[in-house]
Amino acid sequence: VRGIDYLRDPRLNKGMAFTLEERQVLGLHGLIPPRFKTQEEQVDLCRKNVERYQEPLNKFIYLAGLQDRNERLFYRLLSENVEEYMPIVYTPTVGLACQKFGLIFRRPRGLFISIHDKGHVYEVMRNWPESDVRAIVVTDGERILGLGDLGVQGMGIPVGKLSLYTALAGIKPHQCLPIVLDVGTNRKELLEDEFYIGNRHERVTGEAYDSFIDEFMQAVVQRYGQNTLIQFEDFGNHNAFRFLEKYRGKYCTFNDDIQGTASVAVAGILASLRITKHKLADHKFLFQGAGEASLGIANLIVMAMQEEGLGEEEARSKIWLVDSRGLIVKDRPKGGITGHKQSFAHPHEPMDGLEDIVRELKPTAVIGAAAIGGVFTPQLLKDMAAINERPVIFALSNPTSKAECTAEDCYKYTEGRAVFASGSPFSPVTLNGQTFYPGQGNNAYIFPGVALGVICTGIHHIEDSIFLMAAKALADMVTEENLSHGRLYPPLSDIRNCSLKIAVYIAEHAYKTGIASTYPQPKDLFKFIEDQQYNCDYDSCSALPKTWKWPDLTTF
Ligand code: NAP
Ligand code: MN
Repeated sequence: VRGIDYLRDPRLNKGMAFTLEERQVLGLHGLIPPRFKTQEEQVDLCRKNVERYQEPLNKFIYLAGLQDRNERLFYRLLSENVEEYMPIVYTPTVGLACQKFGLIFRRPRGLFISIHDKGHVYEVMRNWPESDVRAIVVTDGERILGLGDLGVQGMGIPVGKLSLYTALAGIKPHQCLPIVLDVGTNRKELLEDEFYIGNRHERVTGEAYDSFIDEFMQAVVQRYGQNTLIQFEDFGNHNAFRFLEKYRGKYCTFNDDIQGTASVAVAGILASLRITKHKLADHKFLFQGAGEASLGIANLIVMAMQEEGLGEEEARSKIWLVDSRGLIVKDRPKGGITGHKQSFAHPHEPMDGLEDIVRELKPTAVIGAAAIGGVFTPQLLKDMAAINERPVIFALSNPTSKAECTAEDCYKYTEGRAVFASGSPFSPVTLNGQTFYPGQGNNAYIFPGVALGVICTGIHHIEDSIFLMAAKALADMVTEENLSHGRLYPPLSDIRNCSLKIAVYIAEHAYKTGIASTYPQPKDLFKFIEDQQYNCDYDSCSALPKTWKWPDLTTF
């Protein structure tokens, strides 16, 4: 490399933080202004620059530019200001960025694999310049956040998620590979959009699609090995469950929309037990929605109840689900009870209307994940408060406009007795002089830490028990102080500690149960994991080669 390459490569670039010696030895001297800056000074300047933009999308573009220019500076900024910048790099702003992807496109990031590359997926993978990839986040863009089919422009999601792998769990950037599989899009506006940057045809489905995904999975293993973690993200409901079943025993894979969501929600439920003084088995759960989120959560609750000593059937009998056709009951005349829903179909009269269902079933907890905003009506909330001393109410649907109720309404109509969590962030609520801090059940509490634990220990297959473990680790981190303010999750500013703790829990479990493949077994797991984490400090990596002296050879 020539000196100028140190400025052009975001992985090597330090900008004005290159020392005088580095500038001279590397042939950079004179190519940078004669000012020497510390990383802290650079971070400060970046913050000022982000603040100059009013529009979140412009902040996003600035941060993406920084990532392309000086990687360590980007991660330092992001990891030290998670609460402030995560909503830009990740949901909600990343959603807007995906919608405008073709317009704001500057530099490519990640790997774009088209259905027309079928038969040559491995060759495309070979073009990726890094040889040590450990984690892939892949989407086909069919169900991006709550925004639906965005085709190839869904790439923003794998990119954003992997930025969090690094910022929140310290997984090294060169070990992360974002991938979008472009099989077309069914969104008419995109097919007609002059700026759309993907294949301009409808989604390829059926056997052609399935064999393309198969080929992709095989190509990953061929290129990067069996241990490569593959996170499925924002696939359509009909494919998400199918692929999870199909691949979980063969590859190192998980689906964040199903399993990550389950884990973060169960963490909140476990933390809530310390407020309600309940056992899990004392609960009766009612879900509004029976999709990826609800079924993932419901199944993980069953597993947690079984650990409490309940039989599987009994555990399932405490969980009720409502889908678009009403309460899911045995032999429902309206039908539509497929696969996973079946095991939660209990004998009961068919029923419609969530308010009526609540009055009939008298649940201790209601969990909303059907993206129908406002269905937790004031009446429903009052009823929950009449039935329960401390009703548990989770409004998980995103974005904010889809939330089942606002934090304010929830506390107001339950006289401040509700134990509340939401998918989207809500500001603190003050009621009769008491302030409540709603917890945000953000998947980012879970997936980076799970990935870190899995990668460090070389787990081959990710069992559901891993997600229960992560939930417990997260719930353990909630302090009595947090709970007294109504917080069911640690503050977002503490999320990096959560990741590390989750990874250590998983590692302990992995060595105890023999599912780890990284040997010899490290003595101190905390230190072992910490030592592998990315360091964005410039001091950790001088650009100059290490030099040393030899002993005085005349004495030999
Ligand atoms: P999904 O797989 O498409 O499932 C949606 C479910 O809602 C389906 O079961 C659907 O019923 C049901 N539904 C639709 N209309 C309904 C109605 N009028 N009444 C009752 N149920 C209805 O979607 P998902 O992945 O589960 O996501 C759902 C929501 O959860 C989204 O808003 C998402 O943003 C949110 N979410 C939040 C988090 C988080 O907070 N950490 C994580 C993941 C997802 P049918 O089965 O009959 O079609
Ligand atoms: Mn997702």
